[in-house]
Amino acid sequence: MAIEVLAGTLRDHTTLHVGGGAQLIVRVTTDQELIDLVRNIDQRGERLLILGGGSNVVCTDQDFPGTVIVIAVMGIEWDEGSVTVAAGENWDAFVSHAIDLGFGGLAPLSGIPGSMGATPIQNIGAYGVELAEFIDQVSVWDRQDNVLRNLSVAECRFEYRDSALKKNPSRYVVLSVTLQITRSLEIPIRYEQLAGVMNQEIETVAHAVEVRDQVLRLREMKSMVLDSADADSNSTGSFFINPTVLHVNAPQGCPTYSLTESNPLAGTSVKLSAAWLIEKSGITKGFGLADRDSRIRVSRNHTLAIANADSGSSREVIELASYIRQQVFNSFGIELMVEPVLINCELDQLTRV
Ligand SMILES: Cc1cc2nc3c(=O)[nH]c(=O)nc-3n(C[C@H](O)[C@H](O)[C@H](O)COP(=O)(O)OP(=O)(O)OC[C@H]3O[C@@H](n4cnc5c(N)ncnc54)[C@H](O)[C@@H]3O)c2cc1C
Repeated sequence: MAIEVLAGTLRDHTTLHVGGGAQLIVRVTTDQELIDLVRNIDQRGERLLILGGGSNVVCTDQDFPGTVIVIAVMGIEWDEGSVTVAAGENWDAFVSHAIDLGFGGLAPLSGIPGSMGATPIQNIGAYGVELAEFIDQVSVWDRQDNVLRNLSVAECRFEYRDSALKKNPSRYVVLSVTLQITRSLEIPIRYEQLAGVMNQEIETVAHAVEVRDQVLRLREMKSMVLDSADADSNSTGSFFINPTVLHVNAPQGCPTYSLTESNPLAGTSVKLSAAWLIEKSGITKGFGLADRDSRIRVSRNHTLAIANADSGSSREVIELASYIRQQVFNSFGIELMVEPVLINCELDQLTRV
């Protein structure tokens, strides 16, 4: 199939529904088309934005001065417990398919929007599980060296909502991801809230189908699954990541999460609940800068998400996010970091005095 030119603006191709137009927005369905097009754009020194499902980007209201490629290359190849998934496959549909075949380990990551190609970018995670635990290798087109590469887990340098791919946004185009999943539908529950709704102790095992159902139910309650009937799901999911601070600097009463053992800061530092910090700095669910019905607001169902209730602009998103970050800094001296990728925009300067 030839490259397809898509109508609309970035507002139409992203889940926060903000963003201007672009010189060209296209959908590609084969790796060869994708590589040829990227190569051409790079040779001409033009700007390029790669998109999957558009669920983790905030695009500026101004037009993007280049080409937007929406990756729609499909394909899933199983080889026992190893599976290679093309970048354009929908993540959640793949999780469901893997469970149907008896590979249950991904069930806690059910319901996360977007495409496979973006999953290693920020090492998606939820309910006590991160994708990096399952990744074997990531196949990429390396735009810097003009070559195909298979990146190992070590080369990807996965961290909490971060990776070498996210740190080098103009270098890699993810073509496919190879995962290693154990064939088992009995999986451990590692998240307190999930264990609670399942009436189980944490670290006990549960059936993957039940885990998926409960995770989807919890996510729906928080507007954390895409739903055209739910304006609070017009978001990027969590807007801020949980900050890591030294144990001694953790505010009293703030819920904390341990760092993974491989993290060199694990002994001295903890992750804080960003949602708690935001709430304690005076920002409630549904908060908007003008009033509670403002077009851009804190989700009514999740303090960490910024939602576009009705045709809001990226400028309004930036204003609200900047305000939240400043309030938390004023209250706790902690600087929240943004989770989604900001395209041609940035938060307003933090005032530190
Ligand atoms: C309601 C909601 C809930 C969410 N919940 C979670 C959650 O629980 N956990 C979590 O981790 N995330 C969550 N997210 C964020 C988001 O869904 C994930 O980060 C997802 O992996 C993004 O996929 P995407 O295809 O939409 O990426 P996009 O938004 O299209 O792209 C994100 C970034 O990756 C780059 N990119 C995309 N595809 C490629 C590729 N093939 N090669 C190179 N770069 C690429 C883009 O250029 C951009 O920088 C949530 C988002 C929403 C809207």
